[in-house]
Amino acid sequence: MGDDGKHESSGSEPPITRDLRGLPGSAGFAIGSAIFVDQGRSGVVRRRIQKHSADDEMARFDRAVKEAALSLREVAERARPRIAEVSILEAYILMVQDETLREDVERRVRIDLQCVEWALRSSVLDMGEQLRGSNDPYLAERSHDFEFVGDRILGALAGRTRPSGIPLGHEPGIIVARDLSPAETATLTKERVLGIVTEIGTRTSHTAILARALEIPAVVGVKNLRQLVAHGDRLIIDGVHGKITVLPSDAQLTDATERSKRYYAMATGLRAARDRPATTKCGVPVTLKGNIELSLEASIALDHGARGIGLYRTEFLYVDRHELPSEEEQYATYRQVVETVAPLPVTLRTFDIGGDKFASVFQVPPDMNPALGLRAVRLGLERPHVFKVQLRAMVRASAHGSVRIMVPMVASLNELRAVRKLLNEAIAEVDASGLPRAEYLPLGAMIEVPAAAILAEEFAREAEFLSIGTNDLVQYTMAVDRSSRDLTHLASFFDPAILRLIKNVIQAGSFRQRPVIVCGAMASDPLAAILLVGMGLRELSMEANAIPEVKEALSRVTLEEAKDAAATAFEASTANEVQDGVVARFAPLIADLLDPDELPNSMLRGF
Ligand code: PEP
Ligand code: MG
Repeated sequence: MGDDGKHESSGSEPPITRDLRGLPGSAGFAIGSAIFVDQGRSGVVRRRIQKHSADDEMARFDRAVKEAALSLREVAERARPRIAEVSILEAYILMVQDETLREDVERRVRIDLQCVEWALRSSVLDMGEQLRGSNDPYLAERSHDFEFVGDRILGALAGRTRPSGIPLGHEPGIIVARDLSPAETATLTKERVLGIVTEIGTRTSHTAILARALEIPAVVGVKNLRQLVAHGDRLIIDGVHGKITVLPSDAQLTDATERSKRYYAMATGLRAARDRPATTKCGVPVTLKGNIELSLEASIALDHGARGIGLYRTEFLYVDRHELPSEEEQYATYRQVVETVAPLPVTLRTFDIGGDKFASVFQVPPDMNPALGLRAVRLGLERPHVFKVQLRAMVRASAHGSVRIMVPMVASLNELRAVRKLLNEAIAEVDASGLPRAEYLPLGAMIEVPAAAILAEEFAREAEFLSIGTNDLVQYTMAVDRSSRDLTHLASFFDPAILRLIKNVIQAGSFRQRPVIVCGAMASDPLAAILLVGMGLRELSMEANAIPEVKEALSRVTLEEAKDAAATAFEASTANEVQDGVVARFAPLIADLLDPDELPNSMLRGF
């Protein structure tokens, strides 16, 4: 078999084993046969029409749009208990009925005299191309959603009104697809699907988020997947490291079975510790909270032992839609999270849109440097009416549990003051409507711009809490675009410059008696978490998956050891020196919890 061809059962040739790399989408291992999910994208009719048939073609288009919207609505109804899927499906229903799409199709039908299938396919391809060409990973991701929506209308034109879903009546196996739509994932269950592998997608794509929610191991973003795997091929998928093995040898199968057993034994052990409080070996408590993007993830975070939500990225409510979310919709969503997590606290972050997080609904003019442009609180203050709708929804949600509000990307105290003013107005408006709310509503500042880290003491005077966003703090301090894959060697949270800024924030918090939390990716790295605790932090927020491991890592180290490591780190002058120092000191203690890429070869763990 060549690299570009499918497997063919060619006589006596031994099957060729292949290791393919992707991205870890959902942790876990699976062994099973490949089940291809055909998205039926081939064979679009390309027919020229007569000018006088244009009206008929457009009438076919309008009927197909109605049918596609109807069938998506049916799937949304069936998926009703799964909130995340429903909100994605509702976004699709809006996309199917998109006016711009209709206008573009109509132009091709009436002027270029293309049949409607051809016109639609060309429009979707062009729009997808534009989204991909924007160099914005989030937008590029959305181009796949657009294609999915185009396929639904094409399906309706061909008389297929039902979304394809996962084929029924097969043995449980591993789904192989270009990508899975929420309509398809709505039909997935752990019993029928052992694992998922997709050709496109990232950790934050819908497939990965939903696979994690359903606890199905997944590897996403495997290039040329469908050329290299054939229906029925035996596969091993390793969702921990983002690898798959096609047609494994007997030895590889035995090895994978062993690694899988070890992984699940450890994961079960860690999950069983869900209710055990996180402490250092010597008993100093550390609060570990969860970061979420979708309301559905709140219960997943609790299942992993989160003691509250330290970062709810509410901007995901604004993406993929044509109208801004209403106050009622936002209130209902926040309330659901707050009630799920109560009595534990939830930190609602006001929308962080702009930069790498795009929402067309805002129609932000393009910036030369989006990360340095109209993003997050800057955008909120520029659109105070939109911002106030969100603040009112948050104030109202506070009636149902313990809520804190947090502002992203503040660079100047003026911004925090302006938000405080808007928040006070929102509170007054909620009161005037006679609606309930919490008496006390803390307002915190995210410290993710170096200016704010330097002025941390001033911020601590006026904010009720500080939350360090290390992802952006690293981006802005090291002047490295956070989505750049080529400069990752420069963008390390172990850099002494970052450690010094964090130390300044910790000191400011302790001087002004304000809680300080870290909610960037640094908190989810077991070695970095130890260092942060050594530097004085007692609250960390991270993605759900990381909580059991960080808890376990902290439980194996005393506060004295962590402090000592922090003191040594402050003598170092480069990120490597800091990292090598913590690896040398702690990796032998927690080798089983670390990513093998972080370990020297001599310490590689078994899976
Ligand atoms: C951060 O910047 O560290 C952070 C937690 O926020 P986000 O990743 O959403 O920008
Ligand atoms: Mg940030």
